[in-house]
Amino acid sequence: MKFIDEFRQRDVAKQLAGAIAQTVDPNRHYRLMEFCGGHTHAIFRYGVQDLMPANVEFIHGPGCPVCVLPTGRIDNAIQLVEQHDVILCTYADLIRVPGGGRQSLIKAKAAGGDIRMIYSTQDALNIARANPERQVVFFAIGFETTTPPTAVAIKQAAAEGLKNFSVFCNHVLTPAAMQAILDAPEPVQIDAFLGPSHVSSVIGSRPYETFAEYYGKPIVIAGFEPLDVMQSALMLIRQLNAGRHEVENEYSRAVTRDGNGKAQALVAEVFELRPEFEWRGLGLIPNSALRIKPQYAQFDAERRFAMPAIKASDVKGCECPAILRGAKKPQDCKLLGTVCTPENPMGSCMVSSEGACAAYWSYGRVRAG
Ligand code: SF4
Repeated sequence: MKFIDEFRQRDVAKQLAGAIAQTVDPNRHYRLMEFCGGHTHAIFRYGVQDLMPANVEFIHGPGCPVCVLPTGRIDNAIQLVEQHDVILCTYADLIRVPGGGRQSLIKAKAAGGDIRMIYSTQDALNIARANPERQVVFFAIGFETTTPPTAVAIKQAAAEGLKNFSVFCNHVLTPAAMQAILDAPEPVQIDAFLGPSHVSSVIGSRPYETFAEYYGKPIVIAGFEPLDVMQSALMLIRQLNAGRHEVENEYSRAVTRDGNGKAQALVAEVFELRPEFEWRGLGLIPNSALRIKPQYAQFDAERRFAMPAIKASDVKGCECPAILRGAKKPQDCKLLGTVCTPENPMGSCMVSSEGACAAYWSYGRVRAG
């Protein structure tokens, strides 16, 4: 398959592993944060970590949209269903994430709530068109990659004059999260970043340039295939050895410096920056998320319904917050593979197909004893 098979070739992987082994300085430790959950899964699915020298460590980052959504926002969505009798449209992963008090959307659905799993924003619009007597809310989550389709749906709803469609907006921004990780009061030691793939196809590589310069951290925009990850690790190691901190683009088959201007214009038309937004594990981060602009206020579920800010705790013992900051790894959680499994998830990192705990479980890094 073009653009897939050639990035999974065993011989090339061996050559890259050899090049990395020859390039690393044996007297230093390399801590590379892969921002995206997609990278985490590629690393474990294809055994990339096992091909690295012992002094090259991957630190798993917060780039999993389901994982970083704070518990209180799940509770808000549950309240929409239980108190306002809306049809709530959501992507599949989200439905199983525990909210506060061990409630979840799937339990609310089992109790009779009208919660529907969808595959695109167009599905949500179709449900609104088919149910004009009901309020339909799209539970929008995701990084810069999934924001443009939400903008399109809002514009379509406005053009059609749909009165029963709104969006519970939880779209978040990547560069602000990277900044928050390094600005934390007790920051995790990270030497360099594998930058996001799909996000960067929208925003381009340019937004990372000031970040790399200010923090003195190299960034390589990395594709999601195993050879992409290995090549990107090699590029980062070369930068670190040379004392450079630049933005390099390994994923040039999809990412340009300026990104997708059309998608960026759509987002700018419909959304504006929130002053701050809470992230699971990272807390309140200034200018790290989007909200719907006043001219599209009638499609903003937070304005249409009374939605209080809910402060809810994660399940006791769940280490998701520390894992999302890069401060811990899934094997540091005592619940991994015992109490917490994909069938019985205690935290978002086990639910999401991009979650670090799900990666460890799926690719044999842990098994119940
Ligand atoms: S294994 Fe489960 S409980 Fe532990 S950090 Fe991961 S999601 Fe949370």
